[in-house]
Amino acid sequence: MKGLRQIKPYVAGAQPQEKKMIKINTNENAFPPSPGVLQALAAFDGQSLRQYSSLENNILRDKLAENLGVKRNQLIVGNGSDDILALAFVSFFNSDDAVLFPDITYGFYKVWADLFRIPFEEVPLSDEFEIVTTDYKNRVNGGIVIANPNAPTGIFKDLSEVEAIVAANQDVVVIIDEAYIAFGGESALPLLEQYDNVFITRTFSKDAALAGLRVGYGIGSPKLISVINAVKNAYNPYSVDLIAEALATAAVEDIHYYERVNAEISETRDWFSAELRALGFEVLPSLTNFVLTKPAGIAAESLFEFLQSKQIYVRYFSDKGRLSNYLRMSIGTQAEMAKVIQVIGELFG
Ligand SMILES: *Cc1c(COP(=O)(O)O)cnc(C)c1O
Repeated sequence: MKGLRQIKPYVAGAQPQEKKMIKINTNENAFPPSPGVLQALAAFDGQSLRQYSSLENNILRDKLAENLGVKRNQLIVGNGSDDILALAFVSFFNSDDAVLFPDITYGFYKVWADLFRIPFEEVPLSDEFEIVTTDYKNRVNGGIVIANPNAPTGIFKDLSEVEAIVAANQDVVVIIDEAYIAFGGESALPLLEQYDNVFITRTFSKDAALAGLRVGYGIGSPKLISVINAVKNAYNPYSVDLIAEALATAAVEDIHYYERVNAEISETRDWFSAELRALGFEVLPSLTNFVLTKPAGIAAESLFEFLQSKQIYVRYFSDKGRLSNYLRMSIGTQAEMAKVIQVIGELFG
């Protein structure tokens, strides 16, 4: 047959369904959604589902605007931040010049560039897995995508460095993916006051414990938002359903609950990192709800398999060059991570 598309898809982390497992392979939040979210779900009026969801999502956008200190017309919400990021690629990257992003970053960037036939170039991270600022200056490009903190390294790039990249590239859009910003980093939001080429994406999946709800959003200048809105409305205008908008709105209202649980996750992360280092493991400095670690005394793949045999699921990137020596472990509850340390300890005991 003629005309069939072949694409190498993004490979997502597995979703095993065992009862006693410790699932630390896809960076889901260790805690349940907030009490307010669960109440909003119980109180949801099923009769209302007869009608289409909102086109404008003004209830959620106004709540977010209030919370972030921006205007409604600086926000777009979508079906997860993957939806917003994919729309942003289509909306903002239409030149013949290559879009730049790190060689080690969120795997979906490359897949979207390929899917939408956008020229791209993967810029190598340093030996320390750092984004090198100068690599993104004085280079003709069609746009830039930076996850900050980066994934799967967990490393946060100082805001002044991010600003230097934005300032040096004011003729293109710089997307800053802040999926993990609630775990200790500093948001690029203040840059919006000075630069209209910044587009920040966020998600409810990780910091609001709502990966299954599928809500994410983008923040940018009114000009960028109107461009991406037109593309959204050319594709899937009702992408945020009624239940999702109601529950996400409740999550924003429960910000204090989330600040508390995410602070706890960050504490557990620092404790877990120190424990791994005490076993001789290399652990990259993380400001996310996961760590990237290079095991000592055992190959990454062997440890991955051993942990799986103990129903502990972590992420292993088998075909990713220097990443194949590392494992990514999401931060679960303190009790779960203590168990992981105990199980790893048994290997060496
Ligand atoms: C999880 C993740 C996303 C996607 O989040 P969803 O809102 O669940 O689609 C985007 N970027 C990065 C870096 C992520 O880790």
